Amino acid sequence: MALEAYRRKRNFSRTPEPEGSDVSESSGAPRFVIQEHDASSRHFDFRLEVDGALRSWAVPKGPSTDPAEKRLALPTEDHPLDYADYEGVIPEGEYGAGTVLLWDSGTYRNLKADEDGDPISLGDQLSDGHATVWLEGEKLRGGFALTRVGEEEDERWLLVKMDDEEADARRNPVSTEPESVKSGRTLEEVAEDEAPGDEESEEGEDG
Ligand code: MN
Repeated sequence: MALEAYRRKRNFSRTPEPEGSDVSESSGAPRFVIQEHDASSRHFDFRLEVDGALRSWAVPKGPSTDPAEKRLALPTEDHPLDYADYEGVIPEGEYGAGTVLLWDSGTYRNLKADEDGDPISLGDQLSDGHATVWLEGEKLRGGFALTRVGEEEDERWLLVKMDDEEADARRNPVSTEPESVKSGRTLEEVAEDEAPGDEESEEGEDG
């Protein structure tokens, strides 16, 4: 049911994005993924595996490793778990049209426990409007906090690096490390390699 909005927005005979299986369960530590998305406006989609789906936020400026930087994160619909491996081009005219690059991925740990030391589930943390996780990615590591700052129609979150040994105000991975962790390609290379409509020109050349 969490994926209803995801599916309603997409025509899977046209978009190469995964439809997502109904029962999605992953083994081991929960995953996180950050996808750079060159849609009508360029942004980074931050996704956390929670209860069998990827909870998602669009972060216009992308994540920062500087604890002084608060990055706006706008909630978007849950995505299926297999979206965590997706990289490619969503065709023009389709929802989210544009290039998707797998910018970072890995696993995360829940950082919040109750007074007895039992972990508070991420679903509960997000319902309460404040969640903290430790990311183990290729580009991003360390604690990150998500804080809800607006309600209902105006729901917005802030994504902020926590002040720990992985914090680094001088690193700016969003601009200095643009390549895909899946393919090593840049956004431009993904767009070129996987541009829809390539088949037609290839046919022409072959003919
Ligand atoms: Mn997006």
